[in-house]
Amino acid sequence: MFDVAVIGRGPAAVSAAVTLKIREKDILLIGEKPSEKVAKAHKIKNYPGLFDISGQELGDAFEEHLNRLDIKPVSDSIVTVYAMGNSFSLQAKSGEVYSAKSVIVATGVVNEKSIDGEKELLGRGVSYCVTCDAQLHKGKAVAVMAYNDVPEDETELLKKLCTEVYFLPMGNVSVPQGVTVINDKPLKIVSKDLFNRTLITEGGQFDISCVFIEKDAIAPTALIPGIETDGRHILTDRKMATNIPGLFACGDVAGKPYQYVKAAGEGNVAALSAVEYISGMNSN
Ligand SMILES: Cc1cc2nc3c(=O)[nH]c(=O)nc-3n(C[C@H](O)[C@H](O)[C@H](O)COP(=O)(O)OP(=O)(O)OC[C@H]3O[C@@H](n4cnc5c(N)ncnc54)[C@H](O)[C@@H]3O)c2cc1C
Repeated sequence: MFDVAVIGRGPAAVSAAVTLKIREKDILLIGEKPSEKVAKAHKIKNYPGLFDISGQELGDAFEEHLNRLDIKPVSDSIVTVYAMGNSFSLQAKSGEVYSAKSVIVATGVVNEKSIDGEKELLGRGVSYCVTCDAQLHKGKAVAVMAYNDVPEDETELLKKLCTEVYFLPMGNVSVPQGVTVINDKPLKIVSKDLFNRTLITEGGQFDISCVFIEKDAIAPTALIPGIETDGRHILTDRKMATNIPGLFACGDVAGKPYQYVKAAGEGNVAALSAVEYISGMNSN
């Protein structure tokens, strides 16, 4: 059981992790990779003390800071966070399950739109995690909507278990061998009964058991059942607290303006709030 699980690898998450470590908390810092929104920035002119630094240099400095404090990020994504009363259970894409007393969500803002039926059928024919759910669809046809490259072991697993794998590239992604490529825009997912769904695209429809969606960021409402949001953002107060006790949000996912300094500042506030929350738990 970790004291705090910090989800993300951008400025908000790094800042939260650094403050928590300095306050001697046992932390899990988890994110697939360091933030691309940092790495891709050409020149940054508004980060105090680091005029004209490139995104790559700032990202390297974040990694170095973690390294110096002996914080080792776990390269994985969280697909669901469950509030369990006095603790949280976090399901990772790798199939690993983590527990923590408190959670800080610093996942950035979700850009990819969801399609009709995606949110409603999550866990009942829509999945963000091949490793977790592939076995449930053994002997059936499935679809993969890929906004990012899908790891080879995941496509291999689907090809081995499923009768057909329809693969829909949603951008410039690698197309695996041995799948049926559908170069068509998906419109909606409809549930026919408990085990069968139809994926409707602009040009056709496909009978499947599940749609696996591979994307960087998952909408907060899909990631955290019961979370209160305003559009794409998690609602927080000034302590970065959400409607779920012990769960805090910071950075772009907590609202505009989308800025490094604001994300890092909120990460610091969220960390101190999590520390306060845990010490309240311990004194009860
Ligand atoms: C090209 C570009 C240039 C920019 N230039 C500037 C600038 O000059 N100045 C400025 O102030 N701002 C700039 N911004 C905005 C800035 O990038 C963002 O405001 C900032 O990165 C937000 O930080 P964050 O930590 O909230 O989220 P992000 O940086 O988006 O990081 C989110 C992290 O969460 C991880 N993640 C997402 N979902 C999950 C999950 N389910 N499980 C685990 N991890 C997950 C992601 O992989 C990522 O590591 C720029 C943005 C872009 C795109």
